[in-house]
Amino acid sequence: MTVDQSIPSEGPYYSLRVADVIRETADACSLILDVPDELKSTFRYEAGQFLTFRMSVAGKRLVRCYSLASSPVTESVHKVTVKRVDEGRVSNQVNDAVEVGTVLDVMKPAGVFCLQGPAAETPVVLFSGGSGITPVISIIKTALATTQRPLRLLYANRDSGSIIFRAELDALVAAHPDRLQVEHSLDDRDGFVDIARAKRFVGATTDADFYICGPGPFMDVAEAALAELGAPAQQIFIERFESPDDLPLGEATPADAEGGIPVTVVLDGKSTEIICGPGESILQAARRAGLEPPFACEEAYCGCCMAQVKEGEVEMTMNDGGIDQGQIDQGWVLTCQGVPKTATKVEYPD
Ligand SMILES: Cc1cc2nc3c(=O)[nH]c(=O)nc-3n(C[C@H](O)[C@H](O)[C@H](O)COP(=O)(O)OP(=O)(O)OC[C@H]3O[C@@H](n4cnc5c(N)ncnc54)[C@H](O)[C@@H]3O)c2cc1C
Repeated sequence: MTVDQSIPSEGPYYSLRVADVIRETADACSLILDVPDELKSTFRYEAGQFLTFRMSVAGKRLVRCYSLASSPVTESVHKVTVKRVDEGRVSNQVNDAVEVGTVLDVMKPAGVFCLQGPAAETPVVLFSGGSGITPVISIIKTALATTQRPLRLLYANRDSGSIIFRAELDALVAAHPDRLQVEHSLDDRDGFVDIARAKRFVGATTDADFYICGPGPFMDVAEAALAELGAPAQQIFIERFESPDDLPLGEATPADAEGGIPVTVVLDGKSTEIICGPGESILQAARRAGLEPPFACEEAYCGCCMAQVKEGEVEMTMNDGGIDQGQIDQGWVLTCQGVPKTATKVEYPD
């Protein structure tokens, strides 16, 4: 495991030590992160939020998000759980090489897939597949502790050996038999969850808050079932577990020729001159130019693509919580939303 010890703890990445590693299943492990007292307020989070990690794998720096599976209300630790993806670089490195004492580069919590509240009695219906249980169990634990809402979970896995947090879920059901129901679906026993099964699970409860997190096809089924049942779109919350595409786009574009705005991008200590086309974000232009800046959601909520404006003026088209006012005041921008207004120089954190 390559660990960059040279990065100072002043954001956007913070150095956090792994305090414990828990083997959850054959292909998933949890990391308990040691958050020192001086970073406790920075790392305060809401149930359902995620942390963004930066890791070196085979000489390449990759950025990945992992949801907090702990509850901010009932647990004092920060726990993320990482499931191996076939040929996935970061997930396998975490499972194979991260150990107690490893220091990781971590951004503060972000994300909007959170327990919506304090909606008094509205039931909560959750769909989760595989590693999609991580934000969902945080939401469940927090809702049980802070509300009186009834909760129902449909949890799909390949087989019984792949069920992450089985014992923890059993214990929660035993402690709250009137409020929490968990229905397991196993591919090797029940086949993939289809729309009919998802609709049966929801039943008549369409006046509820719905949370969906899991593999793409599973989420598509849950969404389609809810649409057929007429569940209100504003009560459906979805988290997509996807890695950012790390291939530079390298596409030809007319932007360079049509008098775009010059931007100097400092990445890994190296300066590159690029041209941003009209309305084009710095992230898009940098990738188009063949650079590989960090990014993940591209929707202004994860904060992965943050860079500091050193010269010039950059306007953000949107900020969905990926960056806070203090960071904006220090000149940071989300480059996925940052459009230069004048010739500009931006620097990504080392
Ligand atoms: C908000 C959010 C929260 C998340 N929370 C969790 C969580 O709690 N737990 C969890 O386990 N995951 C979570 N994820 C998913 C996680 O961030 C990663 O996407 C996942 O771990 C896979 O990353 P990887 O580096 O292992 O795989 P990658 O290396 O990104 O590989 C992904 C796929 O691409 C293929 N691939 C391999 N190499 C390349 C290459 N060079 N170029 C292109 N494709 C390649 C692989 O075959 C694989 O199928 C979350 C994602 C998001 C966005």
